[in-house]
Amino acid sequence: MSTLTIRDLHASVDGFEILRGVDLEINSGEVHALMGPNGSGKSTLAHVLMGRSDYQATAGSVTVDGVELLGLPTWQRAARGVFLAMQYPVEVAGVTVGDLVTAAFAARGNGGAPADLDTQVRDEARRLEISDEFLTRGVNAEFSGGEQKRMETLQLAVLKPTFAILDEIDSGLDVDALRDVARRIEAMTSDDNLGVLAITHYDRLLTELKPDRVHILLGGRVVKSGGPELAQQLEATGYEGLAAELGVDELTVEKPKEADPFGEAGF
Ligand code: ADP
Ligand code: MG
Repeated sequence: MSTLTIRDLHASVDGFEILRGVDLEINSGEVHALMGPNGSGKSTLAHVLMGRSDYQATAGSVTVDGVELLGLPTWQRAARGVFLAMQYPVEVAGVTVGDLVTAAFAARGNGGAPADLDTQVRDEARRLEISDEFLTRGVNAEFSGGEQKRMETLQLAVLKPTFAILDEIDSGLDVDALRDVARRIEAMTSDDNLGVLAITHYDRLLTELKPDRVHILLGGRVVKSGGPELAQQLEATGYEGLAAELGVDELTVEKPKEADPFGEAGF
């Protein structure tokens, strides 16, 4: 078993603090849902875990089985078993998904891609209802939201990381795509012992991808954790209701606007 441990993580952009002390612990095989309103810092957490260079982790630690990830380049974090499915996957013109996973295996070391990689990619495509055409195009080139997220899931299934961070994998998906993607990931948690941090707004995803724990992020902090019932409770109270209940003032983390001397009437 592996454990991804996030301790008192603080992170900033251009000196402005977005994450203000995040603690989470995820074991392999577990699904943790992270819910929070727009602007609460969810994507920032995903990027900081993966080491995107415009975010500075200023305090705390992120470890996999005790090995510190902060300070490592993204590819080394991937080599240690962490995978990020981005909220807005980027288009890679001229690079097929086969090329992409081959490169990912090569970067990881351990002898590179498995010999039957092509077969694995095709099998996963069938399982995720991705038509062959998408296997020969550049990744995410003219893909719909649903096609992008199916393709992220294909990469996840073939690369078999230890931990997957899914940043709103449910956004822009119709019900069929949502079900296919969520079921495939749910199966990985039992077949491959995948640990999941599923970032989402809604409990819709969580009806298929059953969370063991639910965490609420408000103002760059996890303000409440609980079992699956917390997602339903939230659906009833809303984030504002929950914030009021907990006595939390800030729901979002907003960078103060630059002072604008002409902004106010009368000047
Ligand atoms: P969420 O994913 O919960 O909607 P984000 O993590 O994307 O929230 O954003 C949290 C806050 O941090 C927002 O106010 C956003 O504008 C700010 N922020 C996030 N990333 C950047 C960035 N790269 N540069 C400047 N501000 C950022
Ligand atoms: Mg986001």
